Amino acid sequence: MPLKPLLVSALATLGAASPLYHRAANETFVFTNANGLNFTQMNTTLPNVTIFATGGTIAGSDSSSTATTGYTAGAVGILTLIDAVPSMLDVANVAGVQVSNVASEDVTSDILLSMSKEITRVVCNDPTMAGAVITHGTDTLEESAFFMDATVNCGKPVVIVGAMRPSTVVSADGPFNLLEAVTVAASPKARDRGAMVVMNDRIASAYYPTGKVAIDVANMTAIPRVAILFSYEDMHNDTLYNAIESGAEGIVIAGAGAGGVTTSFNYAIEDAINRLEIPVVQSMRTVNGDVPLSDVSSDTATHIASGYLNPQKSRVLLGLLLAEGKNITEIAEVFALGTDA
Ligand code: ASP
Repeated sequence: MPLKPLLVSALATLGAASPLYHRAANETFVFTNANGLNFTQMNTTLPNVTIFATGGTIAGSDSSSTATTGYTAGAVGILTLIDAVPSMLDVANVAGVQVSNVASEDVTSDILLSMSKEITRVVCNDPTMAGAVITHGTDTLEESAFFMDATVNCGKPVVIVGAMRPSTVVSADGPFNLLEAVTVAASPKARDRGAMVVMNDRIASAYYPTGKVAIDVANMTAIPRVAILFSYEDMHNDTLYNAIESGAEGIVIAGAGAGGVTTSFNYAIEDAINRLEIPVVQSMRTVNGDVPLSDVSSDTATHIASGYLNPQKSRVLLGLLLAEGKNITEIAEVFALGTDA
């Protein structure tokens, strides 16, 4: 099929490839867009989707085709993952960007910040792009999905996808999950829904409750360190002071019940807020639940309740708010948007 004039002119103005872009030496690309994204197909009747690969089990590999444990996560490159799903090219023209190739525990704030900016630059700001897919390990997938939901704010779909079985096993689930993720990212119906997680025939929202915020990361260079501390009987106050002395600029408590800590630890939280000016968000160690402000508030300090956000999502939000330069009162106001009284 002949290329449309717009695409032909884009062909003539090839941009310098970013260091993020992965190109296999033997790969044949038929089209490179103005942002340096390489496509193995350019069917102008189809939407364009960029897949950002970070690693995880979906890119896992093992020498045994029956190994579902003990494999290496983040071993296979994005072009191999794309090549494994030829039917994807019936749904969209896809370009692959290798952001990292790690197990998801090793995804960092730096990786997320850089990837978010890239998605805005090469997907949001390019009218020829329909959406983005991120391949990711499942262990910390919700943290990255939440980060993208808060920071990519153009209305185009950002779809995060993982797998439970490595790419080399006979029953790998990654290829079908990837096909479904690209299908969602290519759909106009997926616009303005925030970041989504697609796996196993399901579409989930990265941000479920109310109080969603949009954060502009364009001028951010780093996300301040935030520590999560787990609450338990006999919890010692020194864990809080040690975290702050080690460089944490914000603290999230995985509190017992509705954000609870020992009476003594609660005094330490108030000391951290009032004297050290460190924001402390009280979340919950239960898998699901809500921390209402009324359960953690007092007259002597600006307590912050996480509402429905679990500790790992609270950590991401607190880090982004600190990166914006917000003070404790302003941070408390943002978290209050998602909390019951
Ligand atoms: N350890 C893997 C990861 O999160 C697990 C997975 O992807 O399912 O990277």
